[in-house]
Amino acid sequence: MEAEERCRRQAADAQRTATARASENAEERCRRQAAYAQRTASARASENTEERCRRQAADAQRISNVRYEVWRQKENSAFQYSSNICYESDPLIAIGRMTLECNFCQALRCKGESPGMCCSNGKIRLHSLQASPEPLYTLLTANYSDAEHFQDNVRKYNTCFQMTSFGSTKEIREAGFMPTFKVQGQVYRRIGSLQPLRNEEPKLLQIYFVGDKDKQMIKHEDQI
Ligand SMILES: [Zn+2]
Repeated sequence: MEAEERCRRQAADAQRTATARASENAEERCRRQAAYAQRTASARASENTEERCRRQAADAQRISNVRYEVWRQKENSAFQYSSNICYESDPLIAIGRMTLECNFCQALRCKGESPGMCCSNGKIRLHSLQASPEPLYTLLTANYSDAEHFQDNVRKYNTCFQMTSFGSTKEIREAGFMPTFKVQGQVYRRIGSLQPLRNEEPKLLQIYFVGDKDKQMIKHEDQI
């Protein structure tokens, strides 16, 4: 009963606030927001470290609850797939088309993606793509049977050769009771040519194709 009363009171409060806000003009809204900001700033200025920590933890918890609540209706829904449901039009799932263009590099992004994710707002500038070397260029552009086969299957071919080796600017390996592998700095993928250069031992991806079994084992253990 108590919960019901609380719900009724909160709904009435929300309704009263909404009505008051709907009737205020721009100047009144500005004044109200400025007063609220002032009140918040005063309250924060007077809080001590412990109070600040408590407030931040409560804020984080509130945000987490709201996010969880939004997604709760989808819990385990992946296990109840139905072909009758149009998932594409679900506003929670649909991320929209890539229609927003970056002003600096002209990359396209979806509505929910942050503006600087492509080029850090113009700080990163890449060279323009060069034309593919032959015979790749012809395979990608011509329309004879081999080229068409390549264009239809290029994704599969690409997937076959996507194995790369992990690399980073600083790796720390600690042995002992609990072996630990730590990485610092930039993480990247190492990939070389398909075949080893003349007078060079096979390395990276090449080991899977032209290296012997022992080297493949070492490589495999190295990557785990
Ligand atoms: Zn950009």
